[in-house]
Amino acid sequence: MYTSTRNAQLQLNSKEALTQGFATDGGLFVLPTLPKVDLDQMLATNYQGQAKIVLSALLPDFEAEVIDQVVTEAYGKQWDDARITPLQKLNDQYILELFHGPTSAFKDIGLQVLPRLLHNAIDAQTKVLILAATSGDTGKAALEGFKDVPQTGIATFYPDGGVSPIQEKQMRTTGGENTHVAAIKGNFDDAQTAVKQMLNNAELAAKLGSVKLSVANSINIGRLAPQVVYYFNAYQQLVQAGAIQTGDEINFTVPTGNFGDVLAGYYAKLMGLPVNKLIVATNANSEVADFLNTGIYDRNRDFIKTVSPSMDIQISSNLERLLFYKSGGDSALVAKLMQDLAETGRYQVSAELLDAIQQDFVAGSASDDDVRDAIASVDSKVDYVMDPHTANGYVVQHQLNVPGVTVLLSTASPFKFPQVVAEAVLKARFESGFDAMAALREQRHLTIPAPLAQLQQLPERFDTVLNPEAMPEWVAQLAKEM
Ligand SMILES: *Cc1c(COP(=O)(O)O)cnc(C)c1O
Repeated sequence: MYTSTRNAQLQLNSKEALTQGFATDGGLFVLPTLPKVDLDQMLATNYQGQAKIVLSALLPDFEAEVIDQVVTEAYGKQWDDARITPLQKLNDQYILELFHGPTSAFKDIGLQVLPRLLHNAIDAQTKVLILAATSGDTGKAALEGFKDVPQTGIATFYPDGGVSPIQEKQMRTTGGENTHVAAIKGNFDDAQTAVKQMLNNAELAAKLGSVKLSVANSINIGRLAPQVVYYFNAYQQLVQAGAIQTGDEINFTVPTGNFGDVLAGYYAKLMGLPVNKLIVATNANSEVADFLNTGIYDRNRDFIKTVSPSMDIQISSNLERLLFYKSGGDSALVAKLMQDLAETGRYQVSAELLDAIQQDFVAGSASDDDVRDAIASVDSKVDYVMDPHTANGYVVQHQLNVPGVTVLLSTASPFKFPQVVAEAVLKARFESGFDAMAALREQRHLTIPAPLAQLQQLPERFDTVLNPEAMPEWVAQLAKEM
């Protein structure tokens, strides 16, 4: 049974945890002990087979036939590489490309699965309206994942002026009868906080009738669970390439914002994958990296807009799950720390707890200049073009230089952030993202992912801009129309 990170008395099954999103006490849903999977069995099957094993282990209430069908549909022809997450070797650097899905960012891995599971978990009378705060990539991936899924609606909120022009265009051009998009006056944390408040807003709930609200961020276990799979798959690809022997420990470098991606790596380790260190990379919004180095989480500082907007996050929600596991399931402690964070913007953990965390995690941060230099130097050395988020990981990996084989997770296609990338690689400025895309294609002979190549021609369907205070009323109206 799942429980809450803030109240270990609570018990609910995985279908309920997935439908509800997060606990009414504000905590996140966790399994008190993570199940082990059989490594040999994982290494003997393909991506889809691995996904079935991991999802069955983490979401035990879903019938095997349902998981089978969900996985088959989620990892099908909408991916432009049959391996789903191909591993690239550049000299002695391994890069796991997580961006071959329909929206060209790693969010597709979870968001091709979550809507299908959710639809299965609810009864025929229930309708669910998904609220998604997004720093850019979750929004589009959630819109595509939930588009026209029966009994569901999806509303995404992104910081006005806080996402890349391509990301904004991707969201505003989404099709589907049940999709909604609004820009929010504020930053990502303002949007995320407002979404969390709406989920615990009794007055709003009373207006919604039979419509339930839920979340598609990585705080939803139905999104986190699928992300565990690619850590095993990367390991398998290394074994197949002869780079390691089964049983050898490897490291992963993970560009981090909300701590969902790297937490999935920790889940993989707890479930039996031989992992040495998880290398956490942030951009200049370095709250998480500083915490992992000092034991002090402090968000009382300026929010910085960087060239890796999907990581411009000051409150890393999923860190809460790590605190739960590393404290031995001490939900009272987690509740206290989260209260400190809410009231003072800061918390500090004991030396013992920090030590336990540092057994598995090392961390660093990268500046925008580091990121631009890394994109340019990797391109000139090995002829590989990275996106800015991935480049944060590259920089931090080289700062910290952890011994052993290390896989860098590449979280987005460079074509999602073409202006920054083209500027670094081609040493020229471009008026628009589309100009930059075209220049990259022509001068670097790269293939633009099909959905991004078509984007410029698509009509924009949404132009709503809201103050955070106006969000509940807007959501109530959407629910009425469902
Ligand atoms: C969301 C995102 C991240 C950060 O992932 P978290 O799970 O929030 O840590 C990094 N890079 C890209 C491109 C993203 O979209």
